[in-house]
Order: sequence, then C-alpha cells, then structure tokens
Amino acid sequence: MSLETSFEMILGHAHPKAILKAALASGRVAHAYVFHGEAHIGKFMTAVAFAKTGLCADPPFDQSSGRPAPTSCNCCRSCRAIDSGSHPDIRLIRPDGAQIKIDQIREVQDALSYKSLIGTRKWCVIDDADALNPEAANRFLKTLEEPPDHSVLILITARPQALLPTIRSRCHAVRFHPPSQQDLLPWLQKHRAIAPTEAQLLAALSLGRIGIAAEADPAVLRRERDRVLEALAPERLGNPSDLFNEPEDLAATQEQLSKTLDTIEIWLRDVLIGRHLPEPSLLINQDIHDRISAWSRTVSTDQILEALTLIHLLKRAAPRNINHALVLETVLLELRDAVVREPAPGLKPN
Ligand SMILES: [Zn+2]
Repeated sequence: MSLETSFEMILGHAHPKAILKAALASGRVAHAYVFHGEAHIGKFMTAVAFAKTGLCADPPFDQSSGRPAPTSCNCCRSCRAIDSGSHPDIRLIRPDGAQIKIDQIREVQDALSYKSLIGTRKWCVIDDADALNPEAANRFLKTLEEPPDHSVLILITARPQALLPTIRSRCHAVRFHPPSQQDLLPWLQKHRAIAPTEAQLLAALSLGRIGIAAEADPAVLRRERDRVLEALAPERLGNPSDLFNEPEDLAATQEQLSKTLDTIEIWLRDVLIGRHLPEPSLLINQDIHDRISAWSRTVSTDQILEALTLIHLLKRAAPRNINHALVLETVLLELRDAVVREPAPGLKPN
C-alpha cells in the first residue's frame, strides 16, 4: 500500500495540522493522540504525515525560526521508506476482520520496546481504534499507562465514544472535520479531471469525505443513496414486513450500516432545511428536491430532530458487536412513527 503523503498534500484540516506542526517544532510531541472525526476524511493520512515529518532526516530549514521546519523533505531515506510502507519505526494497525485483537497489540508492544532504527521516535498508528476488542483494549491500556520512551501512539476513530474512557483520558484529542465543499470542489476538479457539475454531485454525495470522493463513481454513489431512500418511502415504512426485511441488506456490515445512517442523516438534514428554507440550492440532495419538499410538509421539526439525535447516539456509542440490523430497525421505527403514524399536528400527510 502506498502511503505517499505530507502535510502539504492533505486537503483541509488546517487546525489539526497546526497543532501537530507546533508539537513537532517545539519538541513537545505527546505520547498518545486520538484523531477523531467522520470516517474517510483524512485522519489516517494526517497521522502518517505527522510521523513522516517527525522521522524526516533532512527537513527544510525555516529561516524565520532558525530551526528545521515542521515539514517532511519527501526525498530522504526515511521519507522514501514511509512512502513505500517499509519504515521500521512506524507500525500501522488495522482491524483483523471486524476486530483489533490482542495479538496485534502484543506485536505493537514488542515493536515499541526496541530502540528506533532510523529516527528518534517510534510511531504506531491504530486505524479504527474503536474496533479494539475488550482484551486488546485492556492490554493497550497498559501501554498507555506506561508509554515506552520516545514512542508516539495515534488512535484513529470515527466513534471516540466507543473507546474505553480510561483510554480516551490518556490521549491528546485532535478533532477533524470534513473539508468544506469550497475546498473539495477545486481539489476534485484538479485531481479527478472532471467537470464542475460532476465534481459538485460527487462532493455532495460523498458528504465531503475525501477518501470516498477521490475514488468513487458518482453514478454508484447515487444508486446507493437511492436504495437507502427507497427504504424510507412512507409506504415501505408503514408496512411491517417491508420494514423488517430491508435492514439485512442495508446493514450487512458495520461499514454498510455507517453509510446507510450517514445517508439517512443527510436526508433528514435536507428535510429540515426544506421545512424552513425552501431554496433547493441549499440542499445536498438537490436532484430530488421534490421528494424532500414532500417530507418537509409532513414531518415536524421536533420529529426530525428526535430522529437525528437517535442516529447521532447510535453512530457514536453503539458497540461494534451489536446486531447491525437492530440498529437500523430502531432508526426506521423512529421514522415510521414520524412519517406514518403521527403526522405533525396541523400538517396533512401527502
Ligand atoms: Zn525526509
């Protein structure tokens, strides 16, 4: 896997990058960080850029401070080893199947117990850290309680609430936000060589998640969205057998469930905007604004906010091992109550 990156190559995230560069420039890099924020927006690549800059053997000189700049040179031996994924002082951990297991954490502890080979610190990046199973999390906690000298641990997660509080409290939290549409649009046009209208659709359907927008086919994203919205049609929500057949498909895995909930969240946001500001250009799903208006006329603001709060809670705090279909059913039941059973007072359903 190519890990070619640098702070300069990463779109957006000005605030996290400033925090990390300041830590490198002052020499006060924390032992442990949690990078949290929506999935696929660049947290992992920022962590790699952080390690790369910290390990670079030949950083450019900063005239103003008279010291090396917190930037990677991208051509020394260390930088090239990171680009090719073969640097001995950086360990990358990802879930093995659905979980991060204790053997993977043992391997990290072993690696961190040796002196660094090329650089001055050893780095470990744990992607989807909320997938640590209880055994692995407890073992990892021991490392956090007594971190080896010159080690930096970076946990990446879209669900920080799902981490053990004892792990969270020992890490320096850095919040990431999706890049703005303003930043994403020119980036997409340049890197994907696509027309402005196509870039706009892609930016909207990928919800600003650059990791998806950089690769996805807009037609596929639109089809995926439409499948979720079909399940929200009032006639489907009102039919119990449809309601409970649907989730299997849309919540087959944690990843699929997360995408489905994102799509519903954005849909509800559009309905909320449609209720108060009937201006299609403010909607994300502009191409189906007539369906949004129909919902806006039927569902009350309170009902939308209740559903959004429920989704927010489930996305951030539901354990990974929970039955995914059950999570989606809970959301669909909440929406059924809003759309089918109890139309807002004084409003007529379509
Ligand atoms: Zn370098």
